[in-house]
Amino acid sequence: MHLDTTVIHAGHPPVHEPGAFLPGPLFAATYVLPGDPANQPYTYGRFANPTWSAWEAALTALEGGPAVAFPSGMAAISAIFATVLRPGDVVVLPADAYYTTRLLAQGWLAELGVKVRLAPTRGDAQGDLLDGARLLWLETPSNPELHVCDIAALSARARAAGALVAVDNTTLTAALQQPLALGATFSVASDTKMLTGHADLLLGHVATASEEWHQKLRTWRTQGGAIPGPMETWLAHRHLQTLGLRLARQCDNAEALVACLRSAPAVQAVYYPGNADAAAGRLLGTQMKRAGCVVSFDLGTRSRAEAFLGACTLVREATSFGGIHSSAERRARWGADAVGEGFIRFSCGAEATDDLLADVTQALAAAVRAG
Ligand SMILES: *Cc1c(COP(=O)(O)O)cnc(C)c1O
Repeated sequence: MHLDTTVIHAGHPPVHEPGAFLPGPLFAATYVLPGDPANQPYTYGRFANPTWSAWEAALTALEGGPAVAFPSGMAAISAIFATVLRPGDVVVLPADAYYTTRLLAQGWLAELGVKVRLAPTRGDAQGDLLDGARLLWLETPSNPELHVCDIAALSARARAAGALVAVDNTTLTAALQQPLALGATFSVASDTKMLTGHADLLLGHVATASEEWHQKLRTWRTQGGAIPGPMETWLAHRHLQTLGLRLARQCDNAEALVACLRSAPAVQAVYYPGNADAAAGRLLGTQMKRAGCVVSFDLGTRSRAEAFLGACTLVREATSFGGIHSSAERRARWGADAVGEGFIRFSCGAEATDDLLADVTQALAAAVRAG
């Protein structure tokens, strides 16, 4: 069955069961529980919740391995760090990993005595640092320059070196790229972004093919207490049903935007998986079904970038990405990425392609006028 079809039905009650298509959120701190609790699925609100169960069933169908839901992407990422890494262990991270992932590793993990090695995503450079490593962390495409690495090749090298592999799959989601099928131990994502796509909630999850790691992650959540709220979980499950539709339009828009930017004189460079990198191009259509909704480009100067953002009428200036509303920002305003002053990260929404391109085109003209 096509993944789009699976996702529309995943985690729902059986087709012939009377009742709501997707039963609403169930709010419970505790459950009425007479007698022996041993065989009761729902005992106390931190242990389990039927709304999480439905959401996790959907994520499991999407990922191809059992999933555990967390209240944010960072809660999911820190759950892997906390269950896998011990003092003296080595973790190999992308030098261009999501900023907070890097901060957490170089702060909390380093203080615990975990050694952190960094290498760029591009060129599978992390593969050269695997000697003695416990965990290889990948993020492909990376942010905000959208470099790509080969998950299957790096997973094989990690396995040979005795290391586990985690892939931060936030940007593409498992609908476009399946880390577990490519050999990763963990597929982790911020569901705040493309997966739910409405800019109205934060969530995250970890899927793993290993029953042992799945149980450890569940125990970590129960004991550590980082649990998702039923309302967010239910909203996320609603949003998930349109993932295939959203991705189709948003990837179409990204591809059209790349073509438009490449012929625009104001644009000095365009970053999109497979755009200028032959190795990444080979992974398009194999590792990744499509290259996702995020496009980055460089307008050279801060004043041009600010003029561009100010002139857009459909594009909101906001951080984050993956939503149905197009958004963009000048990344250098955070001071966290090694990018130029005119570098823009653009998240293509689900607007009609012609409208989006017309808006970008007039905003680029305004940027040129700004000098
Ligand atoms: C946003 C993001 C995260 C963190 O997710 P939150 O839901 O904000 O905690 C992790 N990795 C990537 C690639 C992200 O874009």
